[in-house]
Amino acid sequence: MIFRQLFDKTSSTYTYLLAERQGGEALLIDPVLDNTTQYVRLIEELDLKLVKAVDTHIHADHVTALGALHDQTGCTTAMGAMSMTECVSVHFHEGEKLSADNLHLDILYTPGHTDDSYSLLLPDRVFTGDTLLIRGTGRTDFQNGDPAAQYDSLFGKLLQLPEETFVYPAHDYNGMTVSTIGEEKRHNPRLQVSGKQAYIDQMNALELDDPRLMDIAVPANRACGIVNAA
Ligand code: FE
Repeated sequence: MIFRQLFDKTSSTYTYLLAERQGGEALLIDPVLDNTTQYVRLIEELDLKLVKAVDTHIHADHVTALGALHDQTGCTTAMGAMSMTECVSVHFHEGEKLSADNLHLDILYTPGHTDDSYSLLLPDRVFTGDTLLIRGTGRTDFQNGDPAAQYDSLFGKLLQLPEETFVYPAHDYNGMTVSTIGEEKRHNPRLQVSGKQAYIDQMNALELDDPRLMDIAVPANRACGIVNAA
């Protein structure tokens, strides 16, 4: 497998490039508009053909590259059914797969950070979007975020995966790049709760500023990042 973890410094976003083999099909998870040129160059350098660009949810902190990548490479764009965007070519649902050659990502619906948050699963790793972060979890205070739903997504789905499963989140603000389900179970402070109500109380007690780009990014991302100046 070809696997690259790319980092957007401005928004601390991780973008993932995946392909089964050199010369084959590639898939990008959570690409950032500002880095489109870098992605296209890397895909060319690795002799890959981009077939899908996927967002795990509608982001509030950066503008997505889905529309730009579609325009430049002809790739398919995909978001979950709950994102309710008109701009993508594919709306995926839990239980379906996203594929590039024989690489098949299983789709898990993991709401809570937003009501359109999905995680993407390979046999040895899971891309958790902003549902499960390294030693943290995604905030639940806007975009129909819901701490109770996030508790269910975490404890009912993601933490049920084998402990050795690698965790690749959509962001990290502390220089961490990868974790495992077992490591997060034991060391993620947000997960050391007695039950659902304690988790809800913990999330509701957070007082966070809105993301700087939220008012621009959310509407732009509903349009796949294609913003008309008109
Ligand atoms: Fe997010």
